[in-house]
Amino acid sequence: MIRIHYIEDNPVDQHAFIREVEKKSLPYLIDFSSSLSDAQKKDTVYDLILCDYFLPDGTILDIISDLIKDETPVIVVTGQADITNAISALKLGAKDYLIKDLDRQYLSILPTQIEILLKNRQIEVERRWMSTLLYSFAETTPFGIYLYEPETDRVIYWNAAFLTIWEIPDATRFSGDHLTHSTICHHISDRIESRFAEVPIFPTKKTNYSRYQADGEARVRENKTIRFLTSRVQYEPGPSPCFVSVFEDTSELSRARESLYQYSLELESITATLDQRVQERNLQIDLLMRKTNEMIVNIGHDLRTPLTPLIALLPFLRDHESDPEKQRLLSVLCDGATKIRSLADAALHVGCLEDGSYQDEENRDSCLCDLREAMISIITGYLPAIEKRELQVSNKTPEDIKIFINPTHLRLILDNLIHNAIQYSHRGGLIVLHGGNDSDSIWFCVSDSGIGLTPEDTSRIFDEFYKVDSARNNLQAHGLGLTVVKKLVILNSGHITVKSAGLGKGSRFSVSLPLGR
Ligand code: ADP
Repeated sequence: MIRIHYIEDNPVDQHAFIREVEKKSLPYLIDFSSSLSDAQKKDTVYDLILCDYFLPDGTILDIISDLIKDETPVIVVTGQADITNAISALKLGAKDYLIKDLDRQYLSILPTQIEILLKNRQIEVERRWMSTLLYSFAETTPFGIYLYEPETDRVIYWNAAFLTIWEIPDATRFSGDHLTHSTICHHISDRIESRFAEVPIFPTKKTNYSRYQADGEARVRENKTIRFLTSRVQYEPGPSPCFVSVFEDTSELSRARESLYQYSLELESITATLDQRVQERNLQIDLLMRKTNEMIVNIGHDLRTPLTPLIALLPFLRDHESDPEKQRLLSVLCDGATKIRSLADAALHVGCLEDGSYQDEENRDSCLCDLREAMISIITGYLPAIEKRELQVSNKTPEDIKIFINPTHLRLILDNLIHNAIQYSHRGGLIVLHGGNDSDSIWFCVSDSGIGLTPEDTSRIFDEFYKVDSARNNLQAHGLGLTVVKKLVILNSGHITVKSAGLGKGSRFSVSLPLGR
């Protein structure tokens, strides 16, 4: 409902208005006052005020300012067709001045007039709300905003941040009629360092306005940097092209960027020094490793030489000794000497693999080897141990699987795997050998039903001197066999894996090697 305050002393006019409202079912809620004093007593807020010109206690001009002070639109409806009165009323803020004609035609115009006025008022309220919002945003933002028309040299708007960023201490210095865009340009180019004076923050008169867009950073005196963005305003307020420039003080950011750059330079030099040190250390480590290797190979050789006659002689002495106690002691000596030689052999293999002498051998002594025959030869060597432990060995490798390899390497790989399978099997266990080939590689597996491995063991089993707990007290175990195997497989460009379903569930070692030449 539209709340209307109608100030009218003539009851006939009042009734005529009511009749019109009823006839057209207008959504009006009307409150009548028949004098100025009566009207002044009303403290209701109305959407619109209709009022006669002459009232018993004065003219409407006496109170019109009070009536419109809260922006309520006022329409004067009067029989006084007096132009001076009309002008006075409109000057004091009345929105319209309607003449009551004898046929009461004005009543039919009035509703349209009221509708237009209320609509305009609504638009005005929204416009004001919007501009207040924009204004308060512009005044509180840290970005400097500056609106201007380069062609007419007119400055339309600037905000407080604009003044702060460009260090314009006294805004009034530039305000007033004499303020032009050229004045601002002059002040700004004065502040910019000479070598950056060409930075086109603003379009000039020669610029193609329709395409103009500027985005950059200007270096300003006293070590400041100011980022700017200039573009043409889409909805121009006037006929001439209008631009907005937005500024941001990026001095802090630039300083941070500069320090970051310095840090990165320092970091680069530290990294270079570190790299150099790491390289020096690597060379030292290489040297040490080479020396250690040389030592291992020398010790291996030195140990092996005196052991050979001992290992040949001790079993002979034992077998010819009749005293059982001496025989037992000779057996212990024999086992010890064998163990030391096996350790010396393994150390020698590791040393030779490390220093590259096996690589030379590999190239020099390779020949075509038969996989099945190599397996049989090794099993034959272990027959006494196999029989002693009542093991079953099944060789499922077909005949005629050939590989071009150094036979010593193949023998060492197979020997270690088969020896382990025998050593870590339970009495009466089963060992299966299997092999095959495809167009460019051969593969073989050594599986046993023995003590098995945990996942941790399988991940470390190829490490030097690694022994699973169960093998620690085994005098024959030294933890180097599988290291040698893996190194030999890699030397021959192959691949080795181990799988076990867990402790007590056996193990399977699988090797694949390229066929070679
Ligand atoms: P060594 O057998 O001389 O100790 P290896 O390098 O050949 O050295 O083996 C390392 C360890 O891996 C052994 O001590 C043993 O505990 C474990 N191992 C090797 N082969 C098997 C296998 N077939 N079944 C169970 N454990 C094994």
